[in-house]
Amino acid sequence: MRPSGCRFHTRCPKVIPPDGYDLEQSAWRAVLDFRQRLASAGIDQAGVREFVAASADVPVETVTDGQVRDAVREEFGIPDSLSDPEVDAILRDALELVVDGADDRAHERLVEAFPTVCAREAPPETWVDDDHRAACHLLESDADSPRPADTSAPER
Ligand code: SF4
Repeated sequence: MRPSGCRFHTRCPKVIPPDGYDLEQSAWRAVLDFRQRLASAGIDQAGVREFVAASADVPVETVTDGQVRDAVREEFGIPDSLSDPEVDAILRDALELVVDGADDRAHERLVEAFPTVCAREAPPETWVDDDHRAACHLLESDADSPRPADTSAPER
């Protein structure tokens, strides 16, 4: 299924963060990458446990839930601790749900807490100079550029 919103939002480094949080752009991108994985393939928890066990050269049964959570953070490049404690707490909730095998609920938690217009709505086209138009929510909309049909859709 084609993602809703801006067609670049799954990889755009400038994807617009939700209001009300103090989060570095790179950390926000990493959290959104995690959210997107939950919406697509999900987290292969058994694979993560095997990876941790092999890396630490220990039996897989000894891998703790905390090590799984840390490994998932690391896989997505999410810092050990985020600058906004509220974001960190929400992320920890989501990781807890992943360890419980509830990827769907973890995804819902992140969509609910961290909405982004980039994943919800296709941006309108705007003139960026005399010859070129572009579509990005970061650009000011132009009165002469009619907004395309509303493509709002549930975020994924
Ligand atoms: S609307 Fe702009 S900022 Fe948002 S994902 Fe698309 S290109 Fe990036």
